[in-house]
Amino acid sequence: MKIFCVGRNYVEHARELQNEIPSEPVIFMKAPTALLKSEEALFYPDFTKDLHYEGELVVKISKNGKKIQEKFAHKYYSEISLGFDFTARDLQSQLKSKGLPWELAKSFDGAASVGTFLSKEDLMDKEGHYNFTIFKNNLVVQEGNTAMMLFSIDKIISFISQFFTLQQGDLIFTGTPSGVGALKIGDELKGQIKEQIVVKTVIK
Ligand code: MG
Repeated sequence: MKIFCVGRNYVEHARELQNEIPSEPVIFMKAPTALLKSEEALFYPDFTKDLHYEGELVVKISKNGKKIQEKFAHKYYSEISLGFDFTARDLQSQLKSKGLPWELAKSFDGAASVGTFLSKEDLMDKEGHYNFTIFKNNLVVQEGNTAMMLFSIDKIISFISQFFTLQQGDLIFTGTPSGVGALKIGDELKGQIKEQIVVKTVIK
């Protein structure tokens, strides 16, 4: 199982971190050991003093494929959920400033919490997009709509599959909207899509 993530897929988030707006998807990966199931706690890592949440829509690949055309990409996923791309922001900033890879800041144990997967048709709005809301300690901190993505889910699937064979069960974190922020021990994160809380992670 592979975990792909898209960086800077919402303009407002790219701006809040003073990043350039990319002309093609920014892709990175997390190790399978980064996976954290909903309701499991994330223990605040001792190598960071600035752990951030990034609430994201997560797509689960439903069949194997490579070099998938964008127009056929919708056939390769049937379920979506929400998850958190946990980031050691201080460590990531150090690595970025040196032009080094991000894995230490993004792929550590527990850095990818993922909720319950539900049928994409059931979660879609009338325009075929997905609306989601992220709560920290029951206050809204992020609101996303996939219509605001720079690169659509279908585009992302097509792009990744030009380089990697996508396999059933692979996950794609599709990028975070603005409103990312720091966490402390005791914080509770929840992600809601279409009135349903699908992911919950507590920081311990
Ligand atoms: Mg992210």
